[in-house]
Amino acid sequence: MTELRRDFLKATALTTAGLALGGFMTASATAPDERPDGHLTAVGRLTDADGQYVLPLLPYDYKALEPVIDEATVRLHHDVHHKAYVDGANKARQELAAARAAGDFALVKHWSRELAFHGSGHVLHTLYWTNLTPKPGGEPKGDLGKAIADDFGDFTKLRAHLIRATVAVEASGWGILAYNVLERRLMVLQVEKHQDLTVWGAVPLLVIDVWEHAYYLKYQSKRADYVAAIWDILDWKAAEMRFAAARSAAV
Ligand code: MN
Repeated sequence: MTELRRDFLKATALTTAGLALGGFMTASATAPDERPDGHLTAVGRLTDADGQYVLPLLPYDYKALEPVIDEATVRLHHDVHHKAYVDGANKARQELAAARAAGDFALVKHWSRELAFHGSGHVLHTLYWTNLTPKPGGEPKGDLGKAIADDFGDFTKLRAHLIRATVAVEASGWGILAYNVLERRLMVLQVEKHQDLTVWGAVPLLVIDVWEHAYYLKYQSKRADYVAAIWDILDWKAAEMRFAAARSAAV
């Protein structure tokens, strides 16, 4: 794992831990810009120095996840879809600030919903890119491995649960392994859209996008085939780092 990648994972772990505690954390250090293969660049946070949401560059090449996820899908997914969530979250934030400034909250319901949708979309996509890897390192180990055994019985049972929950998401959504900092245990979530059907306190450790834009070019209607294939490129090291950060932030 490169130094950059480690920084990136640490920052996203802390960011998600921060979310669970009720707000977007702002990282203090600036991640270095590194392009070891001419393409690879990463940004380790959801927001820039001014507090604007920003689209992180991918931590690997657009083609790096082939054959599981094709280049065209990654380009559209990251450059168009993820970017739209970043733009939407910034717009909602601006409109809510304008409403406060004007003392006019006629549209507060609309912009609150927009912030929940786009802000959650930005968070989950930022995690998604970093919990996929061209060089998977095998099953979760260490503290996360132990916690999985404690909370699910064993890794095989977690795998069965998470895969089935992910494939069975109604319409567009996510399968998520989370650590709940209020309950102090792991849980599998089946999230609809980006923000529905979560539990307060749940910090996402590993997320699988099953919106059609994540797989339809290559897999068409065969969502189960996509989920089975993506399982082999999940980066459990990333989940281990987020678990350590979330546990240290447990309340
Ligand atoms: Mn997506």
